[in-house]
Amino acid sequence: MNRLDKIKKIPKVELHCHLDGSIRVETMFELCKDQGLISKNISIKEFATMVQLIEPCNSLKKYLEKFSYAIEVLQSKENIKRIAFELIEDASIDGVMYIEIRFAPLNHTARDLTEDEIIEAVITGAEEGKQKYNVSYGIILCAMRHEGIERSRKVIELAAKHKSFGVVGVDLAGNEQDYGPELFIDAFVEAEKKGLHITVHAGETGNEENIVKSVKLLKARRIGHGIHAYKNPEVIKFLIDNQIPLEMCPTSNVDTNAVDNYKSHPILDYLRKGIKVTLSTDNRTVSRVTLSEEYNMLMEQLNLNANEMQKLIENGIDVAFCSEELKKQLREQVFKAKNIMSELN
Ligand SMILES: [Zn+2]
Repeated sequence: MNRLDKIKKIPKVELHCHLDGSIRVETMFELCKDQGLISKNISIKEFATMVQLIEPCNSLKKYLEKFSYAIEVLQSKENIKRIAFELIEDASIDGVMYIEIRFAPLNHTARDLTEDEIIEAVITGAEEGKQKYNVSYGIILCAMRHEGIERSRKVIELAAKHKSFGVVGVDLAGNEQDYGPELFIDAFVEAEKKGLHITVHAGETGNEENIVKSVKLLKARRIGHGIHAYKNPEVIKFLIDNQIPLEMCPTSNVDTNAVDNYKSHPILDYLRKGIKVTLSTDNRTVSRVTLSEEYNMLMEQLNLNANEMQKLIENGIDVAFCSEELKKQLREQVFKAKNIMSELN
């Protein structure tokens, strides 16, 4: 068994995974053809280059263009349900025992679906996957920065409404340069009052101050990426002192040019400094990566050792937006895999 196969066998958790960035290429290809969105003559290989990054791109905008077909197919209940189910199936194949799936419900109302129907379709698909594969999940609803505070309020209301049915929290995503955390204070203070878990994309595209602001002003309990924290030692100290978890996604950061290359990614430096780092894929399809492959890359490129891998997995369990009971079960599963983990060194 090679190292990647061993990593697949180790129970893992994934906290930062976007539904629209993680649709199987085959599924998207089939649905796009059915809906007449692409020419009948196009091959799956050609199509793959339209929805996946083949090489790093020089802007977040170009990266986001890769999502256009995904959004087009995520406009019917059947498609949404199928895609959520397949993501759980893919997680299972990858040895992921718990996954938090995030999406922006308001991106899927272009045709006739209501936000409630969209959320219910994701939960139905994920639940079917859970029953079949025993992979647990939590749903995070994303508010998009460029849509403004009123739409954020709407997303938070929706999350609160579906809280007992699988939605565990809310996220703030999108253009952090032009829409700083200050603009969303009222909405996110309200989210905290409603008992929702909060995570915020911050420090992904250069502005490290957004990390601290997201925690202090928006009550974020986890930070998506936080990669640029290294620019300010005060931010690093803040993350360590307050044990603020980072949901780090190295391949995605290479793809968006947030770092020059994999070797220069600060993830292990942060982990070794005592920051509560976790590992995720961000967008499995767009970045052509699974969580096992992400761990394998860390071993290959940055010399991650087995103890550090275990730490990343345990950190993920500690800060997951799920019950203590489920965390206990997940820790037991990881403990049972200690032998496979020790073979990785
Ligand atoms: Zn993300």
